[in-house]
Amino acid sequence: NARPSDGPARWRLGVMGGTFDPIHHGHLVAASEVAAAFELDEVVFVPTGQPWQKNAQEVSPAEHRYLMTVVATASNPRFTVSRVDIDRPGPTYTIDTLRDLRATRPEAELFFITGADAMAQILSWKNVDELWSLAHFVGVTRPGHELSTQRKDVSLMEVPAMSISSTDCRRRVSGGEPVWYLVPDGVVQYIAKHGLYRKGAPETGTPV
Ligand code: ATP
Ligand code: MG
Repeated sequence: NARPSDGPARWRLGVMGGTFDPIHHGHLVAASEVAAAFELDEVVFVPTGQPWQKNAQEVSPAEHRYLMTVVATASNPRFTVSRVDIDRPGPTYTIDTLRDLRATRPEAELFFITGADAMAQILSWKNVDELWSLAHFVGVTRPGHELSTQRKDVSLMEVPAMSISSTDCRRRVSGGEPVWYLVPDGVVQYIAKHGLYRKGAPETGTPV
């Protein structure tokens, strides 16, 4: 049993950060698998603000990415969505995400979930030691990326291989190809309703 027997058990909170442009079944499977393996009470999905890694390219408005994440996670009682990153001005840094969640959820033990590609980036960051003091890190396998670490304090986990990326989903929509079963049904419908990712067709704003 992973839980300590002395004292009240702390709320075990998974943190799934991402651009979610759009959210797809690779994200959802990763969160679900880590939740089961690490006995998490909740996984909070945190859509990024303007992502610093992706400044050069177009990223859909945060409100669309937030709402697609809400649609995709609504049916799972353990999944929630946080606005901390999209409501914070400026680019998103994972250190700020974890500090803010620490402040708003002081009772929780944090488990930051990343795919193999994102894990490789994190290991190259300067403030990596502070990150490690704020949360446990769990890296999950992702097709096409090597998952490994020299650090003993990082957990690695194999999850069912989902060869899905948001980049490919956007490319498919812009080319008129289907994204059914790559993203949740409600997200397929949300993309169509708002005209996201269609070249030349202006996307509609979110309702106020
Ligand atoms: P993009 O192609 O726009 O970069 P993406 O599919 O990589 O989108 P992100 O929002 O960048 O999705 O990823 C958020 C997190 O989810 C990252 O930690 C990433 O490694 C992880 N992730 C994304 N897709 C998968 C997948 N198919 N399997 C496992 N992990 C994934
Ligand atoms: Mg990515």
